[in-house]
Amino acid sequence: MTHARGRQFLHTPGPTVMPDRILRAMDRPALDHRGAEFRNLADACFGGLKRVFQTESPVLIYPAAGHGAWEAALVNTCSPGDVVLMCETGAFSDWWKEMVEAFGITVEYLPGDWRHGADPDAVEAHLAEDKARRIKAVAVVHNETSTGVLSRAAEIRHAIDNAGHPALFMLDVISSLASMDVRVDEWQVDVAVGGSQKGLMLPPGMSFTAVSEKAFRASQSARQSRSYWDWTALLPDGRTPAFTCTPAINLMFGLREAIDMLTEEGLDNVFARHARLAEAVRRAVAAWGLELWSADPREHSNSVSTILVPDGHDANALRACCLDRFNVVLAGGLQRLNGKAFRIGHLGDLNEPMILGTLATVEAALGATGIPHTKGGIVAAIDYLAGE
Ligand code: PLP
Repeated sequence: MTHARGRQFLHTPGPTVMPDRILRAMDRPALDHRGAEFRNLADACFGGLKRVFQTESPVLIYPAAGHGAWEAALVNTCSPGDVVLMCETGAFSDWWKEMVEAFGITVEYLPGDWRHGADPDAVEAHLAEDKARRIKAVAVVHNETSTGVLSRAAEIRHAIDNAGHPALFMLDVISSLASMDVRVDEWQVDVAVGGSQKGLMLPPGMSFTAVSEKAFRASQSARQSRSYWDWTALLPDGRTPAFTCTPAINLMFGLREAIDMLTEEGLDNVFARHARLAEAVRRAVAAWGLELWSADPREHSNSVSTILVPDGHDANALRACCLDRFNVVLAGGLQRLNGKAFRIGHLGDLNEPMILGTLATVEAALGATGIPHTKGGIVAAIDYLAGE
């Protein structure tokens, strides 16, 4: 494509489309981060984040990518030699596991087939076996962005309770926050880790950590070396978040705007919109005769869909066609799914015409690249949305 006209349709599952309102909110001079105006901004962000995380616990803001908040969760609560129970759900659980191990923490990794979420029964059975209570935390990726599979967090909570185990519950909500229901308090999540560039519709570069009282208590005795991430300085009284470094001021202008937008729409409506658009995608996939990677309808993600192409065909060729000919960006299959699957991110600032435009483009690209399919996915999506 020599001249790209119109807007690029960005359908990676983060970064996501940034609404003009957010771009405009950030387009202003910085201010003194030790002054009163910044304090107002920070209060609005800290207060708003609690509502988005559905928690009364403090939510810290790190000028860092999601990996930073992953690391903060670990180094504040665990000591070298501790054991963490994790569940294999896909590429992101693998990468988080590698990070945990890099800190000298032992991971007991419950195997998974990537097509299902974390198995609550397996978690319960494993914790029940841990008579010596060696396991310090259960760490789960809520929405596995590589597979489009959502783990049933409430059931994991019940599994921990049923086993009567005192482990902390850590949940990566990076690609579910502000697009699917995340109930930090109801699920008694001790450390919830979020990021800016997904449902919050912001640029990358900021991450969030909701810290329960129990997690904060654990941090007081955790012996992992830490400095930048240390909750002692960032949460001096365990309740009131602070900054030690210069905050990401302009991203926070955007965050305040994002929270306003989510509040105006209403979180329940945000979740319903994501559910509706995701279902339109799934209807199209079924009508094309392609296979959704997520195997259990209870666990289909409403923020990203991973779609298999038939054996002998290249999902990356399809993506290249979408980008080069139509200026639509899809995400690729990660690791074992590379070339075998493509992903449609459908989270953030999206509406029906945007998703229909993308589905129509995918249908055109399926034809252009010779991938066997049945025409009419777009009609199935239209019919579904018309009936909603
Ligand atoms: N966890 C999940 C579920 C993610 O989707 C991502 C990023 O896509 C991350 C962690 C890592 O976040 P970041 O790339 O901001 O470090």
